[in-house]
Amino acid sequence: MSTRSSIFTAAAAALAILAGCATTGTQNTVQRMYVIPCGENRTTDVSLWSPGVNVGKPMEFSNNCYLIRHAQGWMLWDTGNSDALAARPDGLTVLGGRLNIRMPKTLASQLKEIGVEPADIKVLAMSHMHADHCGNANYFTAATLYIQEVEYNAAFGPEPQKFGFVPANYEKLRSSNVVKLNGDHDVFGDGSVVIKSAPGHTPGHQVLVVRLPKTGAVLLSGDMVHFQENWANRRVPGMNFNRDQSTVTMETMAAFMTANKVELWINHDKAQGDRLPKAPKYVE
Ligand SMILES: [Zn+2]
Repeated sequence: MSTRSSIFTAAAAALAILAGCATTGTQNTVQRMYVIPCGENRTTDVSLWSPGVNVGKPMEFSNNCYLIRHAQGWMLWDTGNSDALAARPDGLTVLGGRLNIRMPKTLASQLKEIGVEPADIKVLAMSHMHADHCGNANYFTAATLYIQEVEYNAAFGPEPQKFGFVPANYEKLRSSNVVKLNGDHDVFGDGSVVIKSAPGHTPGHQVLVVRLPKTGAVLLSGDMVHFQENWANRRVPGMNFNRDQSTVTMETMAAFMTANKVELWINHDKAQGDRLPKAPKYVE
């Protein structure tokens, strides 16, 4: 490359960076985000998520829903364990006795505390259609659902159980207004909330990047990764739909976060989740 073209390339890059900053600074219209506890999951054997590592070791997982106040309306990301579990103090034990799932406080009651009714939610998106992320999806039939087309086809197709999905959790969304995605999507058109395709855990798994006005940009992981140690070692849980795709997604998102100064918020990492303010408090 000649010196002249190098200078041109550098100048173009600087302009691109300036343009990017201007866009972020003037058009970020996310006002606040509530982290709503949406379940407590406990396993007797964490090696289900880290094959061959920590066999027989128990672990507690957090599980949150994320309610975003944008100038254009309310958006909900993930809907947690089913509120029906709240009636069972001992929760429900699944995965052959190796995972206990509970819902100490319903999502409905926590939304009410914030002053939001399910019908107020304009945008609904879930990282994927496993039961601990779509347990209360049926409340939000008034919202437009943003879902990857491959995830939609898996969830509403002839063999949802093949993907570990339980249609009773989300069947009312069949008649919702649905936007089927094939990749990334800028939800409000201002770059402040972006759904990113992140397949592997399920066929159409996705993550959410939220540019908060004070906190900065965060990436809500869904089940791209379940806890920090797995992230550090890029471990792929045994139950993932596609192992290679899972690895590629983690590397792609790691590079994206580094390049764009985005912080990773791991949904099921209890240690990290415990440090976040919970609804009705919020982050800005
Ligand atoms: Zn999952």
